Amino acid sequence: MMSCNSNKEEKQKTGPQEVVKVKSDIDKIEPPHWWTGFKNEKLQLLVKHPNIGSATPEISYSGVALEKVHKADSPNYLFLDLSISDEAEAGKFNIKFKLEDGSELFQTYELKERKKPSDEYVGFNSSDAIYLITPDRFANGDLSNDAFDNLNEKTINRSEDYARHGGDIAGITNNLDYIDNMGFTAIWPGPLLINDMATGSYHGYAMTDFYKVDPRFGTLEEYKKLAQEMQNRDMKLIMDQVANHSGLEHWWMKDLPFKDWVNFQEHYENNKTDWNWETVKTSNHKRTVNQDLYASAEDKKNLSDGWFVDSMPDLNQRNPYMANYIIQNSIWWIETLQLGGIRQDTYPYPDKDFMNDWTGAIMEEYPNFNIVGEEWSYNPALVAYWQKGHKNSDGYESNLRSTMDFPMQGLIIEGLKEKDSWDKGLIKIYEGLANDFVYANPQDLMVFPDNHDMSRIFTQLDGNLTNTKMALSYLLVLPRIPQIYYGTEILMDDFEKPGDHGLIRTDFPGGWEGDAVNAFTGEGLTEDQKEMQPFLKKLLNYRKDSKAIHSGKTIHFGPENGVYLLARQNENETVVHIINKNEEPYELNLERFEELGLNGKTVKNIITGKTFTWDENLIFDEAGSTILTTKTDD
Ligand code: CA
Repeated sequence: MMSCNSNKEEKQKTGPQEVVKVKSDIDKIEPPHWWTGFKNEKLQLLVKHPNIGSATPEISYSGVALEKVHKADSPNYLFLDLSISDEAEAGKFNIKFKLEDGSELFQTYELKERKKPSDEYVGFNSSDAIYLITPDRFANGDLSNDAFDNLNEKTINRSEDYARHGGDIAGITNNLDYIDNMGFTAIWPGPLLINDMATGSYHGYAMTDFYKVDPRFGTLEEYKKLAQEMQNRDMKLIMDQVANHSGLEHWWMKDLPFKDWVNFQEHYENNKTDWNWETVKTSNHKRTVNQDLYASAEDKKNLSDGWFVDSMPDLNQRNPYMANYIIQNSIWWIETLQLGGIRQDTYPYPDKDFMNDWTGAIMEEYPNFNIVGEEWSYNPALVAYWQKGHKNSDGYESNLRSTMDFPMQGLIIEGLKEKDSWDKGLIKIYEGLANDFVYANPQDLMVFPDNHDMSRIFTQLDGNLTNTKMALSYLLVLPRIPQIYYGTEILMDDFEKPGDHGLIRTDFPGGWEGDAVNAFTGEGLTEDQKEMQPFLKKLLNYRKDSKAIHSGKTIHFGPENGVYLLARQNENETVVHIINKNEEPYELNLERFEELGLNGKTVKNIITGKTFTWDENLIFDEAGSTILTTKTDD
């Protein structure tokens, strides 16, 4: 990012980059370090230390200017605006804080060299298949980090659905072979940052420090190792981030920098000593107010400012220091872990304009990156609103490339469960996909059979293996980015208490020493599980190299007599997906599908490997999904 080499050499000669004596007088400085060579030269440091608000800071480092110093409402904070020009070299320097009594404090700050240029950060896209993992429940790779006495939740108990079970980063890293061989190209682990909460800390969505890995998941070094090993395999690591809220035990809740750092802060401060869960102003969860032409100001305020739940303070992103803090935190993690994407929790809940600034700042720095925002709505119009390129009547121009396809998820369940008629069954899935015209970029939507917040697909489909295979195979050929929740490949379920969060996030068998069943090795799996796992593995591995599925055109034919055919096609490859609901033998006349140009061609069944000539008809012995390809050579 150097603009002029000769200038740089001169600076090196005259600059103050001598060896710096490392000092660490200040309690907290964030981001803990930064990098040279960003497009955006601005950096805002949060400094926290007793009475630091009355200090005068100084920085002397070539290429770095201290532009402005801001006091906060609390005397224990300072915010420093730095400008890091493209002439700044990577290195360490000391920030001097002159106190009122004449004494001085020093804090060493480091600017690192970036590992790769911004445009090499390629985000997940429709060529990927994402494996979603709840880290506490996947595999316990390190028994020594299961519990810590100095944390609020001290116990580990695998028989309690809402307790910690001991899964960790090492558990994911140790099993990368399995995930890779299954055919997944990206992993989205649930949040791995510290949740020092008294209960329910296993899920990770109540962060108490946005720069610290939860020690029960491992160390920052282990997180980096996971990232590196995934990169070595050409896999993408997606980080689950939360801009809407923190956990109540977040360190800043004990000394809030500004009077408006969190929403409904007054209420919190007045009740701090006698915290009354019932009187907390929680969000009304009326997410439609973001689009609703008739929404009241009252409803809008309650959605965005109400706390998500009573143990998660709602961050006020209209405070510019908070806004900077969140944006810089995301960039810090992208650089630290060389991320291949971010999943942003509860996208419609934070201040809408801030959310767009956040996405815009990241995409501006990393033009090929990707972020998926969670909008839990079954209405395609609401989902489409958030996607970049969509023309919204209120003028909102979103920077978000990827949104979640809850509408398709819901329709697949309904369409497969219902008995077919003119307006029920497969027609719902067919018409659901026909809604793609509302999306600016359908292939950038993330589609999924279920996730960590909803009943397992096998449970939603009443334990019907055939229907579950239909749902998954259909998802994997759609013009979408598919996401599959860990354990789906072995039909994990929550029949005992459908929808119960603790149960949805059951332990992956084989992830713990001594497990009777081991899904990594196949030991102890049932016949149904042994059928599902290779089914998914074959499809995912085919999908990995299928340009027709990644970016080909899509053609589908309206369902007739319980049969629905969808094709993905480019000039070298056609993939045909057929859902057949007929339990009795059924003969499908292929005449209707002539426009696919397959007549007389050899096609291969991706699951069975059998080849045959596409001719007059196809005979199905039983209900199921059939996935065919014209690529027959391998
Ligand atoms: Ca562990």
